[in-house]
Amino acid sequence: MTVTLGDPTTVILCGNHFDGRADALGGPTEILVKDGRIAQLGPTVSRPPGARLIDLGGHTVTPGFIDCHVHLTMDAAHLSTQLLDSPATKALVGLRLANDYLDQGFTTLRDLGSTDPDWPTIDLRNAIAAGTVEGPRLVVAAHLIGSTGSHADVSSLYPPRWHLPISDPADSPDAIRRQVRQEHKYGSDWVKTTNTGGYFSPGDDPARVTWFDHEMQALCDTAAQLDLPVAVHTGAAEGCKQAIRCGARSLEHAYLIDDEAIAMAEDSGTFIVPTMQMTQEDLQALGQGQLTPYTAAKIERDAEQILQSQRRIATSRARIAYGTDCGMFPFSHGNLEFQAMVAAGLSPARALRAATGTAADLLDRTDIGTLKPGAVADIVAMPGDPIDDITLTTSVDFVMIGGQVRRQPAPHP
Ligand SMILES: [Zn+2]
Repeated sequence: MTVTLGDPTTVILCGNHFDGRADALGGPTEILVKDGRIAQLGPTVSRPPGARLIDLGGHTVTPGFIDCHVHLTMDAAHLSTQLLDSPATKALVGLRLANDYLDQGFTTLRDLGSTDPDWPTIDLRNAIAAGTVEGPRLVVAAHLIGSTGSHADVSSLYPPRWHLPISDPADSPDAIRRQVRQEHKYGSDWVKTTNTGGYFSPGDDPARVTWFDHEMQALCDTAAQLDLPVAVHTGAAEGCKQAIRCGARSLEHAYLIDDEAIAMAEDSGTFIVPTMQMTQEDLQALGQGQLTPYTAAKIERDAEQILQSQRRIATSRARIAYGTDCGMFPFSHGNLEFQAMVAAGLSPARALRAATGTAADLLDRTDIGTLKPGAVADIVAMPGDPIDDITLTTSVDFVMIGGQVRRQPAPHP
């Protein structure tokens, strides 16, 4: 249920809190929210006349969660037909998904690519930012740039005689530059590319690199000139290394990363968004016989190696940010990434940081991801102590975005 109460000055009484940066909970605190921002935070804050009091005793209050890898306009379960929907249909469905996900505590989403040749995720971001519609704040890479027959080339889902303008592969540095410039021209915040195959696309292979070094370099250099960070869908260890060498800001998935590539990421500060819950979803679908034969074959071949890579990432010093790939699986499971991260070996505090402070670092945003004076009041809460029991991250029952309350627990009787 959506509760819109306007934007009055608010004092939140927190039973406990996690500030987005620490290694432990910070104990009881009070937060004064004014004009959409955190004005004060401490054992006691001032209570301006008329301020609304929200009592979250028994709850742990955290910064709003940030999912750094979603696809609001992709429905993997029906991809070959959903791809043919209009951009307006995709945007409207995406808006609903974004708001449902916001209610689970995700106040910022980085959308890493629409499969539409038009710009539905840019339209969505702009409409939310302008206040035309309500929703989480969006950071957008509009399209996935890749070569012919790569993970980005969704026309490979159809027979060769069926020519549809649904993907625009690039096969030379000039063509790649043009696409990056096009992304910039129409407002992408990030550039998304793929330098290896994927599991859900036919005919390509996550274990194989699909850009030559000079192509990847052309993409990263053009993006850098335009001040756009680059996110790279990557699988093979060599793909991870190529992305790091060329200056990518984040490795997405990094399915088959090895120790050498992890050491490179540690040294360069490259972020890793390991999408661990997606592997769990894939393995479950594999067990239930729900995968297409080409996906099942690749997952079966690589499953043990992917899980091993995830454990290596979890015990590394690399900067790990929270990302799910929701859209490839239901958004209602997006909050399970916390548990998948902890199962792989991250501490609960590091998993919480991945979705707050570290995610904000990835996005280069100092105004979100941390509870501190001056930050945007994106604040969520859940009953109990999520460091003691990470599963409580699925029990978020208070959501504030930009000082507006969207959800709050039922009052005590
Ligand atoms: Zn993705």
